[in-house]
Amino acid sequence: MKRHIETNCVQGAYEPKNGEPRVIPIIQSTTFKYESSEEMGELFDLKKEGYFYSRLQNPTCDLAAAKIAKLEGGVGAMLTSSGQAASFYSVFNIAKAGDHIVSSSAIYGGTFNLFNVTMRKLGFEFTFVSPHASKEELQAAIRPNTKAIFGETVSNPSLDILDISAFAEVAHANGIPLIIDNTFATPVLCRPIEFGADIVVHSTTKYMEGHASTIGGVIVDSGNFDWTQNDKFPELVTPDESYHGVVYSETGKGAYLLKLVAQLQRDLGSVQSPQNAFLLNLGLETLHLRMPRHCENAKKVAEYLKNSDKISWVKCAMLEDDDQYALAQKYLPNGTCGVVSFGVKGGREAAVKFMDSLQLAAIVTHVADARTCCLHPASTTHRQLTDKQLEECGVSPDLVRFSVGIENADDIIADIEQALDCAQL
Ligand SMILES: *Cc1c(COP(=O)(O)O)cnc(C)c1O
Repeated sequence: MKRHIETNCVQGAYEPKNGEPRVIPIIQSTTFKYESSEEMGELFDLKKEGYFYSRLQNPTCDLAAAKIAKLEGGVGAMLTSSGQAASFYSVFNIAKAGDHIVSSSAIYGGTFNLFNVTMRKLGFEFTFVSPHASKEELQAAIRPNTKAIFGETVSNPSLDILDISAFAEVAHANGIPLIIDNTFATPVLCRPIEFGADIVVHSTTKYMEGHASTIGGVIVDSGNFDWTQNDKFPELVTPDESYHGVVYSETGKGAYLLKLVAQLQRDLGSVQSPQNAFLLNLGLETLHLRMPRHCENAKKVAEYLKNSDKISWVKCAMLEDDDQYALAQKYLPNGTCGVVSFGVKGGREAAVKFMDSLQLAAIVTHVADARTCCLHPASTTHRQLTDKQLEECGVSPDLVRFSVGIENADDIIADIEQALDCAQL
């Protein structure tokens, strides 16, 4: 029976049999016991299914991953140690040195560095395009060696909404997949696979786990992309001699996922611990309750800020006059996320004074969890940049990234109000 997403958040993917634990158990074991070497050999050959070593697969991690796959509408998923590992794997699974990726420029700073610095060092090539690039502009960025297009549903921190269908159309016209980082939206608010995305990644560190207790990532395979349609992805359609000659595209719908597990996780090992997967699953059990509350509170905060004479601008795609409102209505009609950004009148100094005066909202290098928190990029994550460089990457000196939590909205607004009073220079 097909169930609603709320039910899958609570119970998806885990159906204990008679006498088994009601809650997904923590299988804190590196290894699993078998009666004979032959039986274990069959597991290695992928002839039989079963666990043998937690670097490849672990039941706790697999259950949390399977729940996320259900939420996103994919055929399967794999957890990683962090969102960074998920983004790296998502590209590296289908591309190698000398290949080219087209990415939206409106992506998380860590992903931008991963692509633009570290993966360039490894020989990958990237072209960054505006998240609002037209199909023609996007097409112009594609080269014969382009292997994927990458973007974020709601970008961190610039809060741009990606036209996922348009990006998917261009990707598919060129025989390549679209990879979407859906961290800020979560599948409760947007399911990119329904709009044509082929692979979905998350930093589960954010809303999914939701309580700022564990770093983690996940990669979801939609199972929709046909890797055999052209000769761009030889590693998916020819025998992997490093894995008993398996041809991933011949193993069923989750070819991309199987390669991720059998090859990348085996060789690179950015695994999530069963303990962390357990905490992630607890977070998922309330995701469908928390996301609407994050959005409701964020909208109230944004409306308050809009009417305040101490604020120079506010960005929140849930506001009707936001330039992203129409896109947000198409892809995220029930809300975009709990993050809003705004400029404090008085610029950099006033922004710093405002932040230092907050009492409920905490200054942290985090975003998207239950507790309201905020960050002033110009004096922290982007402090090495000049004001001119800041403008170029869309971070103005007065920008405050405010991650609205699930406390009482009136208390959050009262905190902002008193801090704005203190910030008047
Ligand atoms: C935080 C974040 C990441 C990186 O995730 P980590 O879990 O910190 O490694 C990737 N994408 C987005 C959108 C993020 O917000």
